[in-house]
Amino acid sequence: MKSTPIRIMESQSQIESMLDRRDRKLLAERTKYKAQPTSKMHKRINNLNKGRLKRSSFAKQSKLIETENEIIQEIKNLTPLETHASTPPWEKQPQIEIRSHIRTIESKHKHSDLELKDLTSTYLNENFPKEEWIRLYTDGSAENAVTNGGSGVYIEMPDGKTTESSILTGTHCSNYRAELEAIMEALTILGRITPSIPQAKAVILSDSWSVLEKLEVLRGAERQQLAKGFKNAVQNTQSLVLQWIPAHCGIEVNERADSLAKEGSQLEQIERDLMYSEVKTIIKNSMKNKWKESHPEFNRQDGVHQLDRRGQTTIFRLRTGHNRLRHHMNRVFKVGETNLCSCGEAAETAEHVLQNCQTYDALRQSIWNEAVDMTTKLYGPPHELERTAALIAKAGIAV
Ligand SMILES: [Zn+2]
Repeated sequence: MKSTPIRIMESQSQIESMLDRRDRKLLAERTKYKAQPTSKMHKRINNLNKGRLKRSSFAKQSKLIETENEIIQEIKNLTPLETHASTPPWEKQPQIEIRSHIRTIESKHKHSDLELKDLTSTYLNENFPKEEWIRLYTDGSAENAVTNGGSGVYIEMPDGKTTESSILTGTHCSNYRAELEAIMEALTILGRITPSIPQAKAVILSDSWSVLEKLEVLRGAERQQLAKGFKNAVQNTQSLVLQWIPAHCGIEVNERADSLAKEGSQLEQIERDLMYSEVKTIIKNSMKNKWKESHPEFNRQDGVHQLDRRGQTTIFRLRTGHNRLRHHMNRVFKVGETNLCSCGEAAETAEHVLQNCQTYDALRQSIWNEAVDMTTKLYGPPHELERTAALIAKAGIAV
């Protein structure tokens, strides 16, 4: 309806609001300046002087928004952004083969967990036989994708021996970072154990497709750090492959790496320098988490999309309160003489019609044989929403 505020439409469609978007961009920009010690804005952000004029500025506004976000506020140490490539382009980078797909797996969603497990095991056995290859399973995890990160590595040697390692990755940490640290830890371990193994072959397994995709285009400090790890590992191995495998497909050892990562995140965390790109992800995730906290009704996926158009309209109008029921029509549009329901007992609102109005008692009982609360009727699973829409339709109410 025309009267529905944009703010409500945004939250109902679960679209990031313009305000949130602005705040997120502002916070990211502020972080960028913080990571550029030579920029003019860097100084202005750090020495915010009072000034004579009560004028708003980027430095002031972004500080205000930062104060409202505890997680971002706590981040103190940033790795300075590089102004040029850290290694000259003519210097050869150590190479590693990255395989971000398994040929037989078309899409993760097309297969059951059991099929995924079978396909993955077969692929691994054909390409990296246990008896010849060192297999390093890696995994990373972070609480709510923003804090207390941990990484785990689980190693299977060709002779059947196993080793495991669990490390912490910092108070402020994204899932991406935790996954990356797991791979680096695997490389470090490999560099340590391979010198004593002649013609070693090793495969590092990760379920993070996004990390593997990004590894090839890494720049700056991340690249340098990784290259150092690669160098040792590459020098001492005959073949080194980084292979993607599907997550939680029930391969026992991969599950073990997952629990090692969680153990790592339980260790006492340290403050570590963060990269601008990481903080950007953390800003995004922390704002998403905040949104979810303030909209508990959207705890599960919204079932409204499974209804037909008429049903969707009904639910949407009942949720927002911007509908053709008398209360809204009379109060907002000044239509009709009263906002009272035809039963004369109370204002005609969504709650009155769905829960209390005696006129619809029989109809209500034919649809729900027990008492159901408003939240379930308006935000519950699809079949509940369908019932609500059915009541309105059968009662002949035009919402
Ligand atoms: Zn009534």
